[in-house]
Amino acid sequence: MKVILRKSLGIFLIFGSVTLLTACEDITIFLMSAQADKYFSAPSAQGKNFEELGNGLYAFQHGLDRSLIVDTSEGLVVVDSFNEKMAKDLKQILNQKFPKKKVSHLIYSHHHLDHTRGGYELNPGKIIAHENTRWHFDQYLDTKTLKPTHYISGSQLLRFGNHEIELIDFEHAHAEHLYGFYFSEDKLLYAPDLALCQTFFPFGYPDYNHYGQIHALEEAAKLDFDRFISSHFNNGDKSCVTETLGLFIDTRAIILDQFEQYGQPNEADGEWFRHVIGGTKKVIKRDYSDWHGYDEMGLAFMLRQLTGAAMGY
Ligand SMILES: [Zn+2]
Repeated sequence: MKVILRKSLGIFLIFGSVTLLTACEDITIFLMSAQADKYFSAPSAQGKNFEELGNGLYAFQHGLDRSLIVDTSEGLVVVDSFNEKMAKDLKQILNQKFPKKKVSHLIYSHHHLDHTRGGYELNPGKIIAHENTRWHFDQYLDTKTLKPTHYISGSQLLRFGNHEIELIDFEHAHAEHLYGFYFSEDKLLYAPDLALCQTFFPFGYPDYNHYGQIHALEEAAKLDFDRFISSHFNNGDKSCVTETLGLFIDTRAIILDQFEQYGQPNEADGEWFRHVIGGTKKVIKRDYSDWHGYDEMGLAFMLRQLTGAAMGY
């Protein structure tokens, strides 16, 4: 009888532990998805809004994303189509607001699929992207991404009838290559995915190089503008660029300082990790906890900066 009891208790303990471990794993996923939900459901990422920026410039915010539109005598120029649903809604609005005009050009800021899907909904005459993104677009055969018809390189001043758009070359920052769109006369910069306004990037900011990012943000900060049109969340002013630059500089410096205090990553163990991330979080929390996404995406950014600092990117 005792043996049976002991066996039953053993089976119960094993079963209980497995259930608990499985539940814990689910809890981690549950917490992550709850955080993502909170981050992406910010008021600035809800609904749709066609924004007039003056002098023939418009922005179209659709949920999380924001395109730029320029009304030129050559036709409508759209920067970034984002996705099928958004591009379809944008085309409908453009048909209403500019009944006689076609989308003459679609320009891609970079090759990431969350910015380049659905372009065919706009039926553009020409599709322009940077030469360095050609290889990536060639891989996107099974996606709903319209391939560029024209590849360009370097910083460019593109003239579309009565309008000039200055394309700023941001190399080695985000994605294989990134273009910013500068309107000096209007003191306006649309720089998709380069900076956000007092907001942490999602999931540690995918696909970027820290050194390139610093260089690009410093170059952007040299431009004369007082309106920053953001591809995600709120628009703002020049401080969106300078404060994002500050976040990258600060986080990297703090992590390198932790390496000095607790040892280089090749000597890492659990305690090291606890100290380095704990120490970093303490300072970032003090200075950036009022930014949108600090609770949900702050730690992911610090972890990404830690791996970047350890590996040199
Ligand atoms: Zn991107």
